[in-house]
Amino acid sequence: IIGVPIGGYVKVSASGQCCLIDDEGKECNIPEGEKASLKLMHPTSVEGVDDMIRLGDLSEAGLLRNLLVRHKQGSIYTYIGSVLVAMNPYQMLPIYTAEQVDLYHGRKLGELPPHIFAIADSCYYNMRRNKRNQCCIISGESGAGKTESTKLILQFLAAVSGQHSWIEQQIIQANPVLEAFGNAKTIRNDNSSRFGKYVEVFFNKEGDIEGAHMEQYLLEKSRVCHQAPQERNYHIFYCMLSGMQSDHKKTLSLGDASQFKYLTEGDCLTCDGRDDNDEFGRIHSALKILTFSDRDCWEIFKLLATILHMGNIDFQSTIMNNMDSCDVMSSNNFSLLLALYPQLIFLKSLTHRSFMTNREIVMKPLSSEQATDTRDAFAKAMYGRLFVWIFTKINSAIHKPQTDEPNYTRKSTGLLDIFGFENFPQNSFEQLCINYANEHLQQFFVGHIFKLEQDEYSKEEISWKRIAFSDNQKTLDLLAVKPLNILALIDEESTFPKGTDATMLNKMNKEHNGNKLYMSSKSNHGMQFGVKHFAGTVYYDCEGFLEKNRDSLSVDIMELVQKSSNKLLKQIFEKETNKNSISTLSGQFRQSLDSLMKALSLCQPFFIRCFKPNDKKMPMVFNRELCMQQLRYSGMLETIKIRKSGYPIRHTFKDFLQRYRVLLKTPAANCCAAICRAMIKDEEDWKIGKTKVFLRDHHDSFLELEREQEL
Ligand code: ADP
Ligand code: MG
Repeated sequence: IIGVPIGGYVKVSASGQCCLIDDEGKECNIPEGEKASLKLMHPTSVEGVDDMIRLGDLSEAGLLRNLLVRHKQGSIYTYIGSVLVAMNPYQMLPIYTAEQVDLYHGRKLGELPPHIFAIADSCYYNMRRNKRNQCCIISGESGAGKTESTKLILQFLAAVSGQHSWIEQQIIQANPVLEAFGNAKTIRNDNSSRFGKYVEVFFNKEGDIEGAHMEQYLLEKSRVCHQAPQERNYHIFYCMLSGMQSDHKKTLSLGDASQFKYLTEGDCLTCDGRDDNDEFGRIHSALKILTFSDRDCWEIFKLLATILHMGNIDFQSTIMNNMDSCDVMSSNNFSLLLALYPQLIFLKSLTHRSFMTNREIVMKPLSSEQATDTRDAFAKAMYGRLFVWIFTKINSAIHKPQTDEPNYTRKSTGLLDIFGFENFPQNSFEQLCINYANEHLQQFFVGHIFKLEQDEYSKEEISWKRIAFSDNQKTLDLLAVKPLNILALIDEESTFPKGTDATMLNKMNKEHNGNKLYMSSKSNHGMQFGVKHFAGTVYYDCEGFLEKNRDSLSVDIMELVQKSSNKLLKQIFEKETNKNSISTLSGQFRQSLDSLMKALSLCQPFFIRCFKPNDKKMPMVFNRELCMQQLRYSGMLETIKIRKSGYPIRHTFKDFLQRYRVLLKTPAANCCAAICRAMIKDEEDWKIGKTKVFLRDHHDSFLELEREQEL
């Protein structure tokens, strides 16, 4: 009826009129002609199942209904074999207590109702038993619950790890700091992570947490200067303004959030359910636990204040020698800024830019728009680098060298919490990078579930009907593998001083015109191109691509920073000079993604697919269209098919026998007799007694030799 298959009960009245009562309790009459499209539901679909592999009805409608029924019952977790589907409940559930941790610890997957703790425990158990690194790949769209899931797994691992040590505290306390600096309120999520992260937790031989390492990916810097309606800048700004001691605020000339341009663009200063004042206290104590000194904290706040004051600088257009130019408007803001950073007197270099002409440097005045752009670029760079600096400092606090243990390399469990697939009315360079990362992860998922599974069967010569699945390799080829792929063309054009977004688009259109996965601009003047991703076609707006990808500051600003006497400011910009050769943003992102994929491929993976039941952040509301969309692009149906007809558990014969020989009810005597019969020709040469095997002398060494050859 609405394009999405629907479940419900059919009531037939005495007159033969059919009435459908759907899963949402809505009643509607079924016209005579539509009766044929009714299908009887499989019994497993009626009440819902824990593991969708057991579903009798393996259609999209069956899966969707199963999730809906469970959501209604308050069961937010569902398995597809060892893949966990997690439906965001949008309410606090009493299922994450210490008792629940104990309950799930040491139990097999599937023994108890589906739970994220069961996955966490499997990771822990596998890591220790198989002595192999594990990873959890947590995916889903913004607001689906990835970050909360990551925290729950971390909470579980810390709880079951033997000793409750300082290092565990530190690892857990990294979260409030990272969220303060890297999360913000968006229309999709009140606590949206605007960066990706991979946390690797290390365990010693005893299974205790011994240290951790974190990687971060692509912080959204544009938010520092601009916010969409009803969205905020990063939490830390509001926390600082709301929680900082008043004398400190005075020193930094800080009032409240409404006075700063960088904080008011979204017309949203507070966030329901968040107390910025309380949060500030928590952030401050977390910073201390992570070995940030009072001085470090002060320097951080000073830099944040500088960014805010900088945003309030205005430029006044002037005309000089027939050229557009501008002056900094004389306002208090500027003098406030100079009071904080006297060395920034050269901030006037915001209004000029030097150029090389005929081996001579000339200063060219900037228009007020150009000056504003330069100001914003500086603010974004400061914040971005501050974030990386804080990240690095946290890493050095939680890094612990491996304890000296002969013949033992410590094992780890990695947790990947990274932005899901994005498709907005307007998509830019950031979305291209994010979706490129998601293509990689999808391929890893597909590769793991499908390819490896099927390859293993053919290697073991098990008869098996190959299942067709959607492989996204071709999209990855287009984006980053083929010669002159999209990212390579963007990078190439970024290095040409004369390159523009238009020349770049031109080259892309020329190169990929025939590709079915590439959509050229709709018109000659259009600035869009489209890519067919595994989760749907996304159109990207090219404007600003090169600028974002170059991610560079003018030489004048760089010089300004180098001349500064502020240690933190200098320090965060230091890398600029001795950075590795890759200078573009997409280049760096590709490199870090490649090393992430390499790391993941060495682990035993678990997959957690987070689902968002509705767009309104509401409990108990299940939007079928929205969920169907998520089901489709996560490749869930194919997963179920292969999992159901596949054999996900494997043992070598040896392991299997060692472990399960005890289950064989055949008496031990019969087994011994079978071995003797197979190995020793003459039946007279051996005897089976009541508890022992009796052999001739020479057969003892014979059996030993044979055994050695087999091992
Ligand atoms: P994502 O990281 O996928 O964007 P989050 O993990 O930040 O999404 O979740 C968004 C919000 O949804 C959280 O702030 C919280 O309010 C709610 N939420 C997510 N998972 C749970 C859960 N397991 N229990 C209760 N609330 C949750
Ligand atoms: Mg998040």
